[in-house]
Amino acid sequence: MPGRPDHPAHSVLLPSGRSVRVTYADAVLRADPERSLECCGACAGMRVHPLAWKQVAECHWQISLRCPDCRSEVTAVFDEDVVRRFDIALDRAAAEATAELRTLERANMTEYAERFTAALHAGHLLPEDF
Ligand SMILES: [Zn+2]
Repeated sequence: MPGRPDHPAHSVLLPSGRSVRVTYADAVLRADPERSLECCGACAGMRVHPLAWKQVAECHWQISLRCPDCRSEVTAVFDEDVVRRFDIALDRAAAEATAELRTLERANMTEYAERFTAALHAGHLLPEDF
């Protein structure tokens, strides 16, 4: 039985050897195509991240999402455009987190070098320490 062209579908092979064609309902696929997945629907936090994902049709992905702020989780099917925007947002957030980490590392190293220099000048470091 052919599916409707506007309903993504895929085949699932059952242990019995039979193949079943799964068609996704409109209601799930049309869930707010403008939605930004990084924004939590429960608390409006902007740190939602994926827990798991799999492609369920040519242009649709099932993604399990989690918000670290309110701990809500949701699994839904999203179209390729929504997922692509989410991927870009995740890349941007990862770059920002990496930049913050490097800033923190530099600050920690600066503090460490200052303490080491002060200890050296105060005579608290001896050749036996190395
Ligand atoms: Zn949340």
